[in-house]
Order: sequence, then structure tokens, then C-alpha cells
Amino acid sequence: MKYCPNCGKKLEQDVEIENKIYHQCSCGYIDWDNWVNISAVVIARNDKGEILMVKMRKSQTYTFPGGFRDLGETLEDAAKRECFEETGFIIDDLKLLRVDTLDSIRLVWVVFEAQIISGSFVENMEVDDIVFLHPSALTTISPLRGSLTKRLKEYLT
Ligand SMILES: [Zn+2]
Repeated sequence: MKYCPNCGKKLEQDVEIENKIYHQCSCGYIDWDNWVNISAVVIARNDKGEILMVKMRKSQTYTFPGGFRDLGETLEDAAKRECFEETGFIIDDLKLLRVDTLDSIRLVWVVFEAQIISGSFVENMEVDDIVFLHPSALTTISPLRGSLTKRLKEYLT
């Protein structure tokens, strides 16, 4: 970070805290260099217990429905909205399953389990296909979108 998000001045001072150097503003703001984006991700099951995966149009890779939370939105609402936007399915009964981090892209994945209650697949800008897989069949799906998808798939199988 170059400029202070608090007052807009250049972050010119260095301050050493617990053997690490941080940039500090004359107004007192310290850049902890730890910001992350938060993505809400859904392991959505149909009434047969199969898990919904999406195929991303651009990369032709598979992942679980989800995306960035908008400011002002709860994580549950972000999960419901992203799942609907990417698949056309409406989910409910959300339960927190796990949280993953990936520092190389400053990302936190908040993963929910949920039940699909209605809807049907609608092709869209992001997703051109979906699959429903029994958890034991998750190992067969590839290519996967990224390392968090891989981690989550391994966790589920
Ligand atoms: Zn400042």
C-alpha cells in the first residue's frame, strides 16, 4: 500500500513491530499488509446427496459455485447469490463447513454446506455447464480450477 486509506497521505514512515517492518502514516495508520478478499463458496447438495460443481466458461475448469462477497452482504447471502447467479439453483440450510486461505492471491474461502431447494441450471457468462456428483465420484472430475478447489475436493473425498 502506497497511500494511507485513512487520510490519503503517502505512507512514508517505517515502523518496526515484533521484528517486522511496516509502513506507517503520520496520522498513525499502520499498513499491516494483511488485506484479503473474501469469497463465499458452496457445497450444494441435491436431494440425492450429490454435490454441485460448475464448469467455468473461460478456463473450462471445474470448481464449486461461489464468489466474492459484496460489502454490506452477509457471507450466507453472498453464497446464496453467487450460487444462484452461476447455476440458477436456490439454496438454503447453510452451515459453515470450513475456511481456507491462499496468500499468493490474498484470498479467504469461506465454505458452506447447503441444500438445493429449487431452480434449474441456466447457462450464463461465467458458467457453461454443471455436474452433480456423488462425493465418491469427486475424484474423477478434472481439470480443477485452482489449488483451493483441489484442497476442498480432497477434504470431501
Ligand atoms: Zn494517514
